[in-house]
Amino acid sequence: MQVVLASRNEKKKGELQTLLGQLLPGIEVLSLDDVGITEEIVESGSTFEENARLKALAVAKTGYIGIGDDSGLSVRALNGEPGIFSARYAEIKGYGIGHNDSLNNELLLKNMEGVQDRYAEFVCAICCMFPEDMDRPISVEGICEGSILTELHGESGFGYDPLFWVPSLGRTFAELDGQEKNSVSHRGRAVRALAMALKNRFEV
Ligand code: IMP
Repeated sequence: MQVVLASRNEKKKGELQTLLGQLLPGIEVLSLDDVGITEEIVESGSTFEENARLKALAVAKTGYIGIGDDSGLSVRALNGEPGIFSARYAEIKGYGIGHNDSLNNELLLKNMEGVQDRYAEFVCAICCMFPEDMDRPISVEGICEGSILTELHGESGFGYDPLFWVPSLGRTFAELDGQEKNSVSHRGRAVRALAMALKNRFEV
């Protein structure tokens, strides 16, 4: 079974291939570039789920099985921010330009100064849309609970990883290797839920 991830990011494609492939050996993950889809997909939704669905739909309209994903960090004391704007948090708040992980982290720390409630969760929504059955997409979500530290810890990963403390492991995301992160992360959980749902639908 071939699926097209609504992304041009080869790293993301490889990660999904590894994670899904472990559970569904027959699956092949392709990217937008692999199948020549040049359309720019606008993430105009107001939730992770809506954005994932819009991305999957854009692919399914071309005749391929589409997989869309959207993820980000939701901080309780900040009313769910950065949320769907996680990638460009600093820019949206007038604190910098473009997608800049270090400025995003700097702004998050600044906004959390003196805040007692440090609870946060990473959320990943994935939608899989079938061209012949667009009314019945598979939508799944993975959540990883944690808290926001007051300083950066660890060198691995990306984005908000050095600030995100996972109590059950006693480390930040940036102190985990890829496999450890996948075992608890929002993305790992969402992909496993997707694999189960695909298995159930197609008995693959
Ligand atoms: P995307 O939807 O997976 O591209 O993620 C959007 C943004 O959310 C990223 O640019 C990061 O700022 C943040 N984010 C999502 N997942 C993670 C993660 O696992 N670690 C750190 N930051 C993340």
